Amino acid sequence: MNDFVWPSDVDRAENEELNRVCEYLEEVLDEHETLTGKFQRLNDVWRADGCGSNSCMMKPPESVGNNGGCRCYENRSLMMSVTQRVNAILNQ
Ligand SMILES: [Zn+2]
Repeated sequence: MNDFVWPSDVDRAENEELNRVCEYLEEVLDEHETLTGKFQRLNDVWRADGCGSNSCMMKPPESVGNNGGCRCYENRSLMMSVTQRVNAILNQ
C-alpha cells in the first residue's frame, strides 16, 4: 500500500484530490476485508480447548478458570497443530 499523506497541502477539495482519497479508501477497505477474513480464520484455530487457566493464550475459559498460568505450550501436539494452521492461514 502506498504511503498516504493526510491532510494534503491542497486547501480546497478538487476532483483529483477526491479521487485520490476515494481510491485510497477502496484500497484500505480491500485490505481490511482481507485482514478480517484472516483474523476470522485465526479465531477459528483457537477453537482448540485451552488449558483452563484464566490467562490462557489459546482459549481462556468462558466460566471459572484457574490462576495457574497458561500451560498450553506444554502440550506439544496442540502447539504443533496450531502453528501449522496459523502458518497456512498467514501464507494464503
Ligand atoms: Zn492455556
